[in-house]
Amino acid sequence: MQPRDLSDHVAYEAGRGIEEVARELGRDPTEFVKLASNENPHGPSPAAAVAIRETASSVSSYPKSAHADLVRAIADRFGVDDQQIWLANGGDGAIDYLHRATLEPGDAVLTPTPGFAYYGMSARFHHGDDRAYSLERADDFEQTAAGVLESFDGERIVWVTSPHNPTGTTMALAEIERLAEETPAETLVVVDEAYGEFADRDSAVALIEGRAGYDARDDVAVLRTFSKAYGLAGLRLGYAIVPEEWAEAYTRVNTPFAASELACRAGLAAIDDDEHVERTVETARNSRDAMCDRLDAHVWPSEGNFVLVDVGNATAVSEALRERGVIVRNCSSFGLPDCLRITCGTEEETELAIETTNDVLADRA
Ligand code: PMP
Repeated sequence: MQPRDLSDHVAYEAGRGIEEVARELGRDPTEFVKLASNENPHGPSPAAAVAIRETASSVSSYPKSAHADLVRAIADRFGVDDQQIWLANGGDGAIDYLHRATLEPGDAVLTPTPGFAYYGMSARFHHGDDRAYSLERADDFEQTAAGVLESFDGERIVWVTSPHNPTGTTMALAEIERLAEETPAETLVVVDEAYGEFADRDSAVALIEGRAGYDARDDVAVLRTFSKAYGLAGLRLGYAIVPEEWAEAYTRVNTPFAASELACRAGLAAIDDDEHVERTVETARNSRDAMCDRLDAHVWPSEGNFVLVDVGNATAVSEALRERGVIVRNCSSFGLPDCLRITCGTEEETELAIETTNDVLADRA
């Protein structure tokens, strides 16, 4: 007996942690700083850490089925009804739910390139297909409705990442509205705001709810996560915000326990800790400004907690940085073999990243 033919499916390449890198190089983990996975350099909110400890003794019980308190807190934040929140096992889980609720076998999704690989992988798991639209480097990866519509060919879902990974660019709400307007009524535009807290922009929830001068729509959804600004990547907690018309579908597509009790209790504590998020966002802004100003390479302006840097040869430079204790993301897998993505760290981490990168670039010049 063999698995079915999976040759059309590619394995997701998760970034390796400090322990793994240190082991591979035969070095001590304390010699490394990791700025490769857009994690929160301040860790989780202290209140979330307390909630995790307090929940430890009850993890032998199944999670609550509804997590009503967390759902209420999220719904309150965005001014939507509780039923419009689809909790999931990370943003990745929310991507799966949206595909499960939308795709018939053979339907396609349209995804950005360069871009986050899991959209396409998930569509294929759900017996769909994926096609790409390009963010043009010549236009500094600008995101416009026209740029997406050029490649649109009747796909059921159009994925927009705003702020975008790995470019850091955003799509203006008026452009997202135009995209939704100019695609057929049966096409859903999903705005992935995994990095939304770091951007100086309104959430696309305004389009779902008809706020800020926009008409309410039933063909836009938003994706969010606790992995980035909230520092809970290891717990796997994310959610989609969907139009009212989509609320009921969740009860039919979610797995028996969409998110763990530990994750939800920590998430509830974290969402109330505004101070931690504000500090995290401020750190990210300072770090990306410093990298833009001081790296001796082209850095694209970013609204995320990372910057994209043109270093000429991403493999050589990322390996040299790793040798010197700084782990960053080689963007070859995004189709950008000359670029690195460097996560915003603390002030000290950012200094180290800037100085080490500039040293490596100077040695190679
Ligand atoms: N969307 C984007 C654009 C991402 O970069 C990521 C994380 N790499 C995710 C979604 C998913 O994040 P998570 O599953 O940790 O919530």
